[in-house]
Amino acid sequence: SGAASTDDLVAWIRAFRDAVQQHRDELTALDSAIGDADHGSNMARGLDAVVAKLEAPPASAADLFKTVGMTLVSSVGGASGPLYGTFFLRMGPALAEGTDAASLGAALRAGAEGVVARGKAEPGDKTMVDAQLPAVTAWDDAVAAGADAAGAAAAAAEAAAHGRDATEPLVARKGRASYLGERSAGHVDPGAASTALLFQTLSDTLAA
Ligand code: ADP
Ligand code: MG
Ligand code: MG
Repeated sequence: SGAASTDDLVAWIRAFRDAVQQHRDELTALDSAIGDADHGSNMARGLDAVVAKLEAPPASAADLFKTVGMTLVSSVGGASGPLYGTFFLRMGPALAEGTDAASLGAALRAGAEGVVARGKAEPGDKTMVDAQLPAVTAWDDAVAAGADAAGAAAAAAEAAAHGRDATEPLVARKGRASYLGERSAGHVDPGAASTALLFQTLSDTLAA
């Protein structure tokens, strides 16, 4: 059918937790260069709380993302908790109609737009938005070209990784890294790096 099951989406969130755990020190090292050295531990703590909540299987995709979002908002202090929380909270309602490739793309776009609305970052401000927006655009382009969800997710993962890498030369204009001004240039943004993991794990999960 091409639609992702709720179990597939739960597997994605678990895989994202595992990837963040695996890359925790790397994410924290990126944040120590231009922030306060806690992005890896913030995300790991939040996602551990999420996975604990998922012991009770969610009834639907909409339910799943509501739980993920609320748990991240309540368990992660710092910028990334409310922003990732908003991403997932906005995804949920967009999936009430279904989880085919186009609906998933619309949900991911709603999530990214929620982050922009909440954090007010524009493209090029050196934030997670610089990985999210290219990823959702690549997803939509792939679907328009006939891709299924796995194909769209692969394109989105590639675009997110490219977006992550493209944050390196940028000067930060939002978040803690902006306090460094020009000195923030020359480092990859930690939130863009965790976002690349988010899309890579979605691609890996849907390809499996
Ligand atoms: P904190 O900065 O509070 O310590 P984290 O280190 O967990 O929180 O997360 C930092 C990441 O949050 C940054 O790398 C950036 O990607 C993201 N971020 C910060 N502010 C914003 C914003 N206004 N809009 C979008 N993303 C932001
Ligand atoms: Mg930090
Ligand atoms: Mg912090």
